[in-house]
Amino acid sequence: IEPGRPEFMIGAHCLNHNAHSIGICYEGGLDIRGQPADTRTPEQKAALRALLKDLHRRYPQALIVGHHDLNPQKACPCIENVAREYADLQP
Ligand SMILES: [Zn+2]
Repeated sequence: IEPGRPEFMIGAHCLNHNAHSIGICYEGGLDIRGQPADTRTPEQKAALRALLKDLHRRYPQALIVGHHDLNPQKACPCIENVAREYADLQP
């Protein structure tokens, strides 16, 4: 897990949602042909879950959504169903 901007700073990750969200990204997300795909390694999945767990503890009312859920023109994070995968960490 590599921190980007501090949480108190407004990010630049999702048009119209930067001021009230925290952006998380993982390296990957494209298959060998450059098509969107869930390429997370088990280690990335574990790190992502640990990070989301920590954020959920500190921001219990925050929804966990994919970029695609807020902007259908985006394929990322290339996770089949973000809400379902992290249902246990939703408000
Ligand atoms: Zn994105």
